[in-house]
Amino acid sequence: MPKYKYCPMCAKELNQGLRYGRIRQYCSNCGFIYYENPLPTTVAIAELNGKLLLIKRGIEPLKGIWTFPSGFMELDETPEESCLRELKEETGMTGRIEDLIGVFHNKTPMYGDIISLIYYIKLDTGIPTPGDDAEGAALINISEINDLGFNSFNTAFKIYKEKYYSKKPDMI
Ligand SMILES: [Zn+2]
Repeated sequence: MPKYKYCPMCAKELNQGLRYGRIRQYCSNCGFIYYENPLPTTVAIAELNGKLLLIKRGIEPLKGIWTFPSGFMELDETPEESCLRELKEETGMTGRIEDLIGVFHNKTPMYGDIISLIYYIKLDTGIPTPGDDAEGAALINISEINDLGFNSFNTAFKIYKEKYYSKKPDMI
């Protein structure tokens, strides 16, 4: 299904056809090809004293569920900067990147293909305060966390628990 009708460069009507191995929209007039790529997002599994920081999502998709802080990367920032920025914006909390839990691909109805870079962050001491895009923010016991709404988040949470908590049952 074509997404755009007119060329963003010269405003002529776009065509559709095989270009570089895929059916893509292109412009016969100026040569513009509309490449579609996954959107990169970053996600924070942020820990303080054995609890994880969750937010209540204030926007779709999955508005109202409790899950990890996350957001789209901006231009001119590294994935690590993006993750710490989203964390600060949504919860008021700061911390440092400890590990990359994994990189995940998902197809979403709202945004199409998403790439999620999910980091383990050790939080600085502080009180979570919900900010942009969040209706709530709280530190939750790991044993009380179940479904985080997104498949990639649930998979990353499982990896996180196995990697960082399997040897430390006293902290669960
Ligand atoms: Zn054009």
